Amino acid sequence: MKPEFIYFDLDNTLLDHSSAESDAQKAIYNSYPELQTVPIEEWLKAYKTLNQQLWLQYQKGEIDRYKLQRNRFKGSMQVLGIDSTRSEEIGADYMEQYRKYWNWLDGAKNAFDTICEKYPVGIITNGFSETQQKKIEQMGLSDYSNTFIISEEVGVMKPHQKVFDVATDKAGVSRDKILYVGDSYTSDIVGGRNAGWKTAWYTAFSKSSEVNGDLTADFLFKEFPDLVTYLNS
Ligand SMILES: [Mg+2]
Repeated sequence: MKPEFIYFDLDNTLLDHSSAESDAQKAIYNSYPELQTVPIEEWLKAYKTLNQQLWLQYQKGEIDRYKLQRNRFKGSMQVLGIDSTRSEEIGADYMEQYRKYWNWLDGAKNAFDTICEKYPVGIITNGFSETQQKKIEQMGLSDYSNTFIISEEVGVMKPHQKVFDVATDKAGVSRDKILYVGDSYTSDIVGGRNAGWKTAWYTAFSKSSEVNGDLTADFLFKEFPDLVTYLNS
């Protein structure tokens, strides 16, 4: 099947969010002595655990983005018994650092360039409008598309079907002609499948137990050239 419109997820599909997060966290850890009262591994574990819980609460609409951004640092510091007086400053500094480390994933830029020559494309991303807009700008994605769907602007997050309904309208083609390329099984693959779209799952970040499930994507890939080959076949 040849799609007529291709949507891409942004974080950990085109942009290497995981490396940017780790590099920014290391920079923060090295700048604030109070964090260094615990080993960096312990700090990262506490932060990631709480950040994930807060994102789930944000996804359910239980907390707003301000509470998420404030509490992920303050709460992690409190859990570890670290003086949290400067948590606001550290949280703001983290966002500054995070921006410095935004890079394309290996092979993603080349593949994206090639795909954009043949297909209309768009981006669907869960996240804060301000941050995601900056990513779009810094990666030069506006040169390729003007179809950007950011969950904060829709008011709900993937896999909520409203996100996919808005995206379907913007694509202007029938549902079965849309392909969604993403790394998250629950947000991207299940969300896209429920919307009646085709899905391509970028599995470089997935556990093998996830990948081997019965209900999977129409196409799975770990290396971007394979996606290009699939679309050319
Ligand atoms: Mg993603």
